[in-house]
Amino acid sequence: MERIDQIFHRINENSNRFLGYPLAKDFDYSEFAPFLNLCINNVGDPESPSTLSIDTKDIEKEVISFFADTLESSIEDVWGYVTNGGTEGNLYGLYLARESFNDPIVYYSEATHYSVKKNLHLLGLRSIVVRSRSNGEMDYNDLESLLTLHRDKPAIFFLNIGTTMTEAVDNIDHIKEIIEKYAIKDYYIHCDAAFLGCIAPFVDPKPKFDFSEGVDSISISGHKFIGGPIPCGIVLTKRKHRNRIVNSVSYVGTLDTTITGSRNGLTPLFLWSFIKKHGKKGLIERARKSQEVAAYTENRLKEIGVYAWRNNEALTVVFDKPSVALCEKYQLASEGKIAHIICVPGIEKEEIDVFINEYEEELVGSKLEAVL
Ligand SMILES: *Cc1c(COP(=O)(O)O)cnc(C)c1O
Repeated sequence: MERIDQIFHRINENSNRFLGYPLAKDFDYSEFAPFLNLCINNVGDPESPSTLSIDTKDIEKEVISFFADTLESSIEDVWGYVTNGGTEGNLYGLYLARESFNDPIVYYSEATHYSVKKNLHLLGLRSIVVRSRSNGEMDYNDLESLLTLHRDKPAIFFLNIGTTMTEAVDNIDHIKEIIEKYAIKDYYIHCDAAFLGCIAPFVDPKPKFDFSEGVDSISISGHKFIGGPIPCGIVLTKRKHRNRIVNSVSYVGTLDTTITGSRNGLTPLFLWSFIKKHGKKGLIERARKSQEVAAYTENRLKEIGVYAWRNNEALTVVFDKPSVALCEKYQLASEGKIAHIICVPGIEKEEIDVFINEYEEELVGSKLEAVL
């Protein structure tokens, strides 16, 4: 059909060109095409079978087990499920945190993803925004002074393991120091690792954020660094938190531990096939290659005289924003004066060169204009 062809071509062309979003483009899940003609539904808790046996929960549990292991724990101690994306995982973590305490306060930084504010509102949670440093990391001095005002309240720390704009990582050691210094008894740590969750465990130095650090829950996006045609994610939490909210629902004969009832059964298949094909070794190599493209991008930008920088070995290269036309053409996300390129798998050096050349022409053009 003409209309559908048009839509296909628009998406295909645009996805070949964007540089500003953390979505890997190098996937091929066509082997799962026959599943498109099936009803698949992972309704409810992944560990609890439902009366409607049209699910991929076995596969989903293997995916969760892989991530539990990657995040320095095991399926005996942590529980999780495949979500609709990072936002749902963050909502879930905050929900579990809320159910843990009476009248807690959530601390999160200015650089936090926009969806978190809405999630806090939905949950009716009290929260305080902490200032960010210029690199996007939480300002720990500001956190400390805010916390001293509410020492008597349970504290929920919402940490960024890779902020959306600059891929900054909040330092869990500093958070723990503050917890200790003020003898905060009741606290909960949630890590938003939407983008970095599939990268950080595989790079050196490794950003600290996993269960060996004592965090309570972690949210990761599946369609970002792993990539796929349908947004998805993984949320993991200590079992005790999940057990606190267990509710049995007789209608579908499963446990209502997840945010939504019906859940996607295809996305666990995609994640599982990626894990089977690539495994940890593949992810290490994938991260290394992407870091190399990011280092290349940073250097090329500097070569043409553009102010560019990265947080450590980030895949996100931050730089002075080019014209609106270029931002639109390459779909660069921008905020104020800065833009970024995120060097996800599927973006090659050749594509970076094409962009750099165009940016350079623009710069030369504007210099000429200034002279004339
Ligand atoms: C992308 C992102 C989110 C939202 O994740 P979705 O998968 O789009 O729902 C949350 N936090 C951070 C830091 C992100 O980069």
